[in-house]
This record gives sequence, structure tokens and C-alpha cells, in this order.
Amino acid sequence: MHQMTHYTHFFIALYLTLLCTGCKLSTYANQSYNTTPFDEKFQNITLRIDLTMRDTLPNSEVKIASISKMGEWTGRRGETYLIDNHPMGNFTYTIVDDATRDTIWTDGFCALYEEWVGTQYENKKVETYEHSILVPMPKRPATFVLEQRARNGVYSEKLRATLRHSDIRQCTTLLNPTVKTLRDSGDPAHTLDILILADHYTAGEESAFDAVADSLANVWFSRAPWSEYKDRVSFRTAFLPCETNEINNRISNPDSHLSPLNTQFGWHGSDRYLTTNQVFAQTDYAGNIPADFIIIAVNTNIYGGGGIYNELTTFSAGHPQAIELLIHEAGHGFAGLADEYFDNTSDGLDEYYDISTEPWEPNITSLKHFDLKWKTLYEDGRAGLLEGAAYTSKGMYRASDVCLMRVLNEPFCPACHMAVERKIKEYLE
Ligand SMILES: [Zn+2]
Repeated sequence: MHQMTHYTHFFIALYLTLLCTGCKLSTYANQSYNTTPFDEKFQNITLRIDLTMRDTLPNSEVKIASISKMGEWTGRRGETYLIDNHPMGNFTYTIVDDATRDTIWTDGFCALYEEWVGTQYENKKVETYEHSILVPMPKRPATFVLEQRARNGVYSEKLRATLRHSDIRQCTTLLNPTVKTLRDSGDPAHTLDILILADHYTAGEESAFDAVADSLANVWFSRAPWSEYKDRVSFRTAFLPCETNEINNRISNPDSHLSPLNTQFGWHGSDRYLTTNQVFAQTDYAGNIPADFIIIAVNTNIYGGGGIYNELTTFSAGHPQAIELLIHEAGHGFAGLADEYFDNTSDGLDEYYDISTEPWEPNITSLKHFDLKWKTLYEDGRAGLLEGAAYTSKGMYRASDVCLMRVLNEPFCPACHMAVERKIKEYLE
């Protein structure tokens, strides 16, 4: 649903290059803070829950592949953000304290798997997809519950698992890439940490990757609301060399595997769709580094990429105009934004969205629950309400005619700006 289909309207702004320091990060000092509700409920340890997803029509089979412990927890911890009554994503999960029955954590994500289920194409085979969930380790025995949201907005439970600290072993699959810090905004526990992973770069191409990362950081922080949070966001890169910079197209060569992350073109029958289903590998690559949001820079000048909320965000790093595309894709991947473009001939019966229910995406509304969206901005005149969004011209509304989620090189509309800003703030408390 979030694969890129528009290829025009590019502009790249060049700004002063950030200083790139080549220190390798191995540990991140944990400072002491006053006890907070987070500390009462969670240990300062990252819990990794790996899921596999497979279609066994008419049902989806979602299983836990493994549960393990990783390093320090550097994700969100502010009291305001532990629980969200309207979590974003087609999959949502909760952690419930077994003794008190209190929900102590909620979050959500989307999955490449869902796009695969929803796309018909030639030679489609049954495939297994992956997703890694990272949460802080509960202090007391707790239960993890995963639910999936159907097109009509109804949630159904997919699985549950007990979480016992003593039963969970240390993760042994983490990799040790070379880490560089482009921007250090302080303690990872109270900053948003963005990490760029290199894929399909050979050992001799590390400087090319560094140059792309510098350009990306410069453009990234020139765009609102990112520009307003420059000093609260850290930006790092991680590099693992590949033996070859050749990139496979899985339509013509379905069984090829050429890099640690195995990014390939040709997903879901589309030559331009560049991503990977090796999400466990992404977690292994990034697992020793603070990473609230991960971007995969793929060494190719062929235009492509994609963004899936809380799962995968990829772009063609060798195509300089694609940085603008990446900021759009990160709207999907980081903030759960929907595409605001639409087809004038579509009639509200689009296969992706059901206009009789409120979508969870923060920048579109079917007016069934506008109060959860940008209604306050609309009422005080700071945002509009225009029909046509999310691929359909009828029954779905957006906040402005001007938005990066509709046309590249535009700023975010007020609804998107608010949503990205809210997401950034989750990591700052
Ligand atoms: Zn927007």
C-alpha cells in the first residue's frame, strides 16, 4: 500500500556538510534519573519479540519465532506515551501486568506481509515474512497480546505469550557494524535516535555511503518539523561491507541472496519496489546501536524505495533526488502517515480503505472520528478539510492541498506536521 508509484517532482537542497566523526560506539552510558512510572514497570533492557507471518488462506498464521533480551532500552519511556488508547498500525500489541491486569504498554506496526497478502501478481508463491517487535522488559510477569485490525476497523487477537524475565535468554545473533555519529544530541534514552544502515556497499564504497548519509542528514534537518528538533535528534550510520554491490530483482531471480539485509527490487510484482523481508537481519544489524527509527540506504542509482510503519524504510542512496522521496517514505515508516494523493476517478470503494470506518492514519479522516485527527486545527482555522485522499476521491479527507504526502518537494500539511511532531516527542521525555 505504501510502495512508491510517483517518480517526479524532485529537488535537492544542499546545505553545509555536517561534521562526521568516526568513533565506533560500543556502549551507551546509562545515566541515573529519578524513579518514574517507567522504572516502576520496566527494566532498562530491550526485549526482542520476533514474529513470522505466513498466509494459510483464508487465515494468516502469525507465530512467535523467538523472544530474547538485547542491550539497554533507549526507546520511549515518558509517562504520557507508555499507553495509547488508539495505537497506530494494522497490527497493535499490548503488554498486560499479570498480577494487576493493567495494560502497561501499547504500540503498533504495519507489515510488508500485509502488502504481499493484498497484492496479486504472476508467479506468486507462499512466502514467510518477518517482523521484530522491541519493547522494554517488564519487571513483573506479564502477557504480550498481538491483535490485527481488519479493514472494517475491528480488531482480532492473533497471539499471546507470557513474558518471564527468568525464561528469556540473551540474543546471540547481533552483528557489529562500524558505527559513525553524524549528530549527537545526548543521552539516547531522552533523544530520538535515527540510524541509517548501509546495504549493498562493498568495503571500498564506505566513503560513498558516508557522503550519502551526510547529504541525507542535511536535507532531513532542513524540513519542518525536523528542523525544529535538530538538537533533540541523534543521527548515526552503521556499515557492514558486502562482497558485491550487485542488487537482485526478485521477479527475474527469486532465490538470490546477495547482502546481509537482502534488499531487492521487484517486490509484489513491481520492478520499482525496493525493500527486503529480512526484518530479523535488520534487527541484528541495528541491535547494538540506539535506533528508534531505522533507514536502509541501498547502494543503487535505480530509483525505488518504500516505507512501512514501524517496520522498514528503504531508499535508493545512489539516486540523489531520492532523498526527497525518502522523507516522504519516512512519513509512512516513522509517523504512520497515509498517502494523500488519489485518483479522481475512484469512488470511495477503494480496496485499501473502508470509508465507513475511521482509518488509524493521523493525516486522513473519513469523518467518523474526526475528533481523533486534526479537528482542533481545523476549527481554529489552521488546517483545512478537503475531500480526496488515500487513493480515493470520495469519502476520505485531507488537511491541505499542499503536502509532502501528496506531492514531493512540498512541506508537510498541518495534520502531517502535527503527527510527525507528536511522534518525535514520544522519544524526548
Ligand atoms: Zn499531510
